[in-house]
Amino acid sequence: MPDGTNFTRDGTPWEPLYIEAIDMEKCIGCGRCFKVCDRNVLAMMGVNEDDELIEPDDDEAERMVMTIANKGACIGCNACARVCGSGAMTHVTAAQATAL
Ligand code: SF4
Ligand code: SF4
Repeated sequence: MPDGTNFTRDGTPWEPLYIEAIDMEKCIGCGRCFKVCDRNVLAMMGVNEDDELIEPDDDEAERMVMTIANKGACIGCNACARVCGSGAMTHVTAAQATAL
């Protein structure tokens, strides 16, 4: 894992914030985060009456939630957090991710 030191085009220091978790109790399945992520990190899943994750097209899905399908592909742009109005997402710095 890199140490998190990055720079914008003009040389300003910038620290990525990587997706770490999505709280399925807070997520309303709006899909906004999925639309802004171009790294194929996120995936919509269904939730059945027992709060188990199932395929989104399963007839037993009572609601939808966003899940993290490919955490390692996240570039830490933090765009998903900016569009989530539910406070469902947790992001971490590179140092925090290494410690997990
Ligand atoms: S931080 Fe950026 S790359 Fe990572 S999941 Fe969110 S939108 Fe995708
Ligand atoms: S933007 Fe937030 S509430 Fe909407 S699907 Fe993503 S995590 Fe869930």
